[in-house]
Amino acid sequence: MSLRQSRLIVECPHCHTTYTEETVTLVRDEGERQLFHCACPSCKRSMIAFIRDHEGWISTMGVVTDLDAADAVRLAVRSPVDADECIHAYQYISQQSQNLCQILLKRAP
Ligand SMILES: [Zn+2]
Repeated sequence: MSLRQSRLIVECPHCHTTYTEETVTLVRDEGERQLFHCACPSCKRSMIAFIRDHEGWISTMGVVTDLDAADAVRLAVRSPVDADECIHAYQYISQQSQNLCQILLKRAP
């Protein structure tokens, strides 16, 4: 599949500025499925673009993101957060919320 088969990674959907080769990063390539990070040089918005080529039929999906390209590449290889990790984080925050509030209040001007 050509990297330029989809309009999704050709121009910014917000301001229609054409992406450059330097602003489109291939994050993950799994043959018929590819994940890109596209950063608009004009409006500075970024997007994660998923493109799937199945027997010549191209499906695309774009999601606005605040990730930069390096973070997108780094996070693409991490395993997803599982339910136990979410519960552990919730319990930790619940137990430490008073400390967290005190830390935030100290940082306030
Ligand atoms: Zn733009």
